[in-house]
Amino acid sequence: MMTDFSISDHITKKRTYFSLGKTKEFDFRRQQLTILKQLIIDNEQAIIQALQADLHKPELEAVTSEIVFALKEVELAIKSLRNWTKPKKAAVPWQLLPSSAKIQPEPLGVVLIIGAWNYPFQLVIVPLIGAIAAGNCAILKPSEIASHTSHLVAELIPKYFHSDYISVVEGGIETSQKLLTEKFDHIFFTGSNHVGKIIMAAAAKNLTPVTLELGGKNPCIVDTEIHLEHTARRIIWGKFINAGQTCIAPDYLFVDKKIKDQLLANLEKCLKEFYGEHPEKSPDYARIINQKNFDRLVNFLKNARIIIGGETNPNEFYISPTLITNISFTDPIMQEEIFGPILPIIEYTDIEEAITWINSQPKPLALYLFSQNKNLQQKVLQATSSGAVCLNETVIHFTVPSLPFGGVGNSGIGSYHGKASFDTFSHYKSVLKNPFWLDIKLRYAPYKGKLSIL
Ligand code: NAD
Repeated sequence: MMTDFSISDHITKKRTYFSLGKTKEFDFRRQQLTILKQLIIDNEQAIIQALQADLHKPELEAVTSEIVFALKEVELAIKSLRNWTKPKKAAVPWQLLPSSAKIQPEPLGVVLIIGAWNYPFQLVIVPLIGAIAAGNCAILKPSEIASHTSHLVAELIPKYFHSDYISVVEGGIETSQKLLTEKFDHIFFTGSNHVGKIIMAAAAKNLTPVTLELGGKNPCIVDTEIHLEHTARRIIWGKFINAGQTCIAPDYLFVDKKIKDQLLANLEKCLKEFYGEHPEKSPDYARIINQKNFDRLVNFLKNARIIIGGETNPNEFYISPTLITNISFTDPIMQEEIFGPILPIIEYTDIEEAITWINSQPKPLALYLFSQNKNLQQKVLQATSSGAVCLNETVIHFTVPSLPFGGVGNSGIGSYHGKASFDTFSHYKSVLKNPFWLDIKLRYAPYKGKLSIL
C-alpha cells in the first residue's frame, strides 16, 4: 500500500517520463509489448496458482480465459502495431485543395486502470496492452479482493517495466479514492455500476475521459427452434465457468413454455456431465470469492424453488450449480446482477413478453438468443439493445479481438479488446496541411461578389 505522497510522486514521475517522448516511439512500444508477452509466458504457473488461491479457478479456465486470452491480445497488438499507429489519410473538400488531411493517433498521457476481482489478471493486463500500444504511461490498481493475484501483479510489473513508466498501486476503496483525487488523462475502470458512477463523478472534476466496463443482468432467451443438447451445454458452460462470477454470464433464462421441460432435463443432464453428482468434489468448479458475496448469493436461495443444486458450504464459499424456477419479476434475484452460480428460469408463451421485460430493464452487457429462426433472430436484434449479442452461443464473443467489448447504457461506456483497446487509449488528432505554392483568396475579405462563387 502507498502513502498519499507516493501516489502523487508516482504520477509526477510518470508525467516526466511521458514528456521525454520515449513512450511514443514505435520501437519502444513494440519492445514493451514484447516484454509484457514475456511476463505472461514466464509466470504462467504463478498466475495459475494465484487464481487458484483467489477463486479456486480451474487450471483450464485460468489458462484459457486469462493467460492465453491476454497472450493472444498482446500478440495481436505486436503484429498490428505498425498499422494501428500509422496516420490515416483523410479526404479534403475540393474547395480546400491543395490542402491535405490526415488523422494521427497520439497517446493520451498517464492513464489509470482499475480492475475487478473475477478475472483479476486479465482485467488489468488486457487494458494495459492497449495503453502500451497507444504510447501511454500507466498505473494499475488491481482488485484487493483477489488479493493473491493483486500481489502477484504488483510483484511482477516492477521486475519487467521501469517504475516511472508502469507501476502498480495495491489497495482497496480508500486507495482507489486517493488515486481518483489525482489528475489522469484517462481512467479505465472495470467493476460494478455503483462504483462506476463514483469513478465517473471523480473523473468529471478533471474532465478526464473514462471507459467503464460494468455489469448487469444478461438475458438468455431460448426459443423452440434449437438443438437441445448443444443449447444446454453452451448455457451451462457460460453460466457456471468461474462459478457464475463472469460479467457476461447468462444471468437468467427466458424459455419458450413449449420447450421448458425438455430444456430443463437437458440442463440437468449437462450439469452432471460437467461436474458429476457432487460438484463440490469436481476440480473443474470454482468457489465464491468471499464471505460477502457468498452471503449475498445464499440469500437468493431462501424460499427459492430449486430444481437442482442449492447446496452450500460456508467453509469453502461453495455454492453448487443451481437452477431455480417459479420466479417473479419482483423477486430480489430479478432486481440485481446475480454474479454467481444460480440460474433463474422463466417461461414465456410469446416472445413479446421476454422483449418487453428486457426493454423495461437497464441495457445489459450481453444478450443471448438460442434460435435457428432467422426472423426471430432479426426481431430480437432489432428490438433490444445490449453491449453484445450472441446467437446460439454464450460468452465466447469476448475472445474475438475484432469485436469491441463493452456495454451500452448502464452496462458501460466505451470498449476494448483488439484494435478497440488501442483506440480507447489514443486521441485521434486531425491534421490539416496546406502548401504555400497556392493561396486562393476566395475566403479573405473583402467579401464583395464572392458569395456567388462559393
Ligand atoms: P467493484 O465495483 O466493487 O470494484 C471494482 C474496483 O473498484 C476494485 O478495484 C475496487 O477496489 C474499486 N472500488 C470499489 N469501491 C470503490 C469506491 N467506493 N471508490 C473507488 N473505488 C472503488 O466491482 P467488483 O466487485 O470487483 O466486480 C464485480 C462487478 O464488476 C460486477 O458488476 C461485474 O459485472 C463487473 N465486471 C464487469 C466486467 C466488464 O468487462 N464489463 C468484467 C468483470 C466484472
